[in-house]
Formats: sequence, structure tokens, C-alpha cells
Amino acid sequence: MDFIPYGRQDINQEDIDSVVDVLKAPFITQGPKILEFEKVLKDYVGAKHCTVFNSATSALHTACQALQLGPGSLLWTSPVSFVASSNSALYMDAQVDFVDIDPVSFNMSVDSLKLKIEQAQKDNRLPDVVMPVHLCGQSCDMKEIYELSKEYNFKIIEDGSHAVGASYGDQKVGSCQYSDIAVFSFHPVKIITTGEGGALFTNSDELLERVQLGRSHGVTKNPSQYKNEPHGSWYYEQHALGFNYRMTDIQAALGVSQMKRLDNFIQKRNEIALRYDELLKDLDVKTPVIGKERESSFHLYVIQVDPLKKKAIFESLREASIGVNVHYMPIHMQPYYQQKGFKYGDFPKSEAYYASAISLPMYPTLKESEQNYVINTLTKFL
Ligand SMILES: *Cc1c(COP(=O)(O)O)cnc(C)c1O
Repeated sequence: MDFIPYGRQDINQEDIDSVVDVLKAPFITQGPKILEFEKVLKDYVGAKHCTVFNSATSALHTACQALQLGPGSLLWTSPVSFVASSNSALYMDAQVDFVDIDPVSFNMSVDSLKLKIEQAQKDNRLPDVVMPVHLCGQSCDMKEIYELSKEYNFKIIEDGSHAVGASYGDQKVGSCQYSDIAVFSFHPVKIITTGEGGALFTNSDELLERVQLGRSHGVTKNPSQYKNEPHGSWYYEQHALGFNYRMTDIQAALGVSQMKRLDNFIQKRNEIALRYDELLKDLDVKTPVIGKERESSFHLYVIQVDPLKKKAIFESLREASIGVNVHYMPIHMQPYYQQKGFKYGDFPKSEAYYASAISLPMYPTLKESEQNYVINTLTKFL
């Protein structure tokens, strides 16, 4: 059996042709494909605005900048995420803290959030921003988190890196129905890809203006925004300290082409998940549970095994050429975060999840025979 990775992109001839077309066109960056990709994305999720970036990490950083996080500000996120979620606040010299997960959905627990808010109120240290992470592609309880945000006056950035194409209620993740900003990632292991890339959604005109400045050096070429009289048609103004976080047209063309197959990718991922559920149902493992009124994009299929056997099972699967992975070691256990004062034991449910979690291979072109091989191998080592 060839090596089976845990995730991989699906690129077809139409994707390749669309990229080649841009390479022959006058603009290979900052051209028409960027605007086209942004329109396709915002129409798909139902948000007012979309701005694409060269990564989700840049989009998250820019989101923190647009919400004016700075020294003295505080962002709360989930410990069970990729480090980019919390790093985005540290880039702004803001402080980070975590809210423990719900052991069933693995997402930020609304009960833990409420308890932490009660304590924070006593300490007079409520968060400025809460960043729920839609782990594995399943939406967090956004309505409940949104209601708390109105009561306790914090902003919400959704890290939807895993949840491209997922739904919550009758809305797509990214609609920002219950948030200020939502972010997607287009890294090749995620749901659709642009090589590297990300997108930021918002329904706020004011935030859009700050986000667009942040993406490109803080510079505007829009005369209606100028503070001074333009000196000529070459004129532009810098209004903030931004970065170069732009996506190329080459990447945007790939994104537009990939979007045509997004619903198909989600359907296939859900079929593979159902088949895993079925094949695993009599074994000594816990399979993912999807909450009410939501559809997961199944970026990841995470099983939970006996923590005492996890390492042996994991290594045995790897030896059998199965690219299992672990998403994630909780962020507060990283040495960099331990230096900031976090300790083992701070978020026990996240740590218990980590002790038992294994991500099985999950991508639209995973074959039934490969899936059978994964399960047969797993069965031997359980
Ligand atoms: C992949 C990922 C990111 C970062 O995305 P990039 O596009 O690689 O910058 C951020 N948050 C989560 C949860 C991710 O999985």
C-alpha cells in the first residue's frame, strides 16, 4: 500500500488551465481574479464583504488589527487549535488566554466560557475579543457565544480555517451572522486550496476599510478616502501601518476554479465520515459527534482511543504507511506559551482530548479500499 496522507488537495485539469491562463495575462497579482474570487466567496457564504489574503494567519492578524487589539487588550480562544489562532493576538502585543473545550464537540465550551466570564468580571478583566475555532469543520455554538458577546461587550473573530463550506443553522460559516469577522484558510490540506491563502469576511463597512488597509501597507488609492488634496493621478496615501499580505491572481484563479467543486468536496468528505462511523461502530474508539442544526465540512476525522494505547496505535499506523496525525497538542502546552505562564493542567478537558485523539486520513479522493485498509490496520492494534 502506498503512503496514505491524512489530507491532500484535489487539483484537476480545469484548475491547472485556469492558473496557466493567468500566467499569460497582463496581471499576475492585484488583477481581476482577486475581485472575482472575493465575489464568489462572499456570495457563497452570504457575507457582505470578502477580502482574500496570502494566508489565514495574515487574515487573522489583520482581523486583530482591524478590531484594534493592542497592549492591554485580551483575546480568548480555544487551546485545541493551531498556534496561528492565538499567535494573531500576540502579534498585536495583546494578551491571550484560553477557554477549555467541550469534550463531545472538541470546540470551545459555552459553559466554560460562561464560568470564565463570571470570574473575569470579578477580576475586572473581561476579554476584548473571543475567537471560537470551528475544529475539524464543525461550527461552534455561535448563537450562544454571540449572545454573551452582547451582554459582556466583546467582539468575535471566527477562526473558520477548517470550516470552508460548513453550515450553522440555515447559514454558511463565514456569513458573520454571529460574529464581527470570520476567516478561512486555503492551505492544501484544508477544504479548497490556493497553495497558500486565506479569506476574511465581515458585514461591517468600517471594518472592511481597515482590513483592506491592513492587507496592503496601510495604503489607499481610493480618492474618496484621501485626507489631503491629491497632487496628481499618481497619488496615494498611507493611513495606517499595514503589511504586504496580498494573494496573487495566480492563486485566486485556482481558488475560483476550486470553488466550483466545493459542494462536491463537502459531500464526499461527509460520505467518507459516515463510512468511517459505520466501520468503527463496534470497535473500542469514540467517533465524532456532530451537533444539532449544523453540517460539518469534515476537514478532519478525529477518533479517540484509550490514552494508554494512543502512542502505540499511532506509531503502528504510521509504520503501516498510514499518515495519521494529531490535531492538536493544546497551545498552552507549547514551550513558547509555557514561558508566558501557562501550565500543564490549566485546561484539563483539552489535555484529555489530546491524550486520546488521532486524526485518520480524510480527503475527497480517499478510496474505499484505502479506507478499508486504514480500518483493518487499526483493528489489529486496538
Ligand atoms: C491552518 C490553520 C490556520 C492557519 O492557516 P494558514 O492559511 O496556514 O495561515 C489557522 N487556524 C487554524 C485552526 C488552522 O487549521
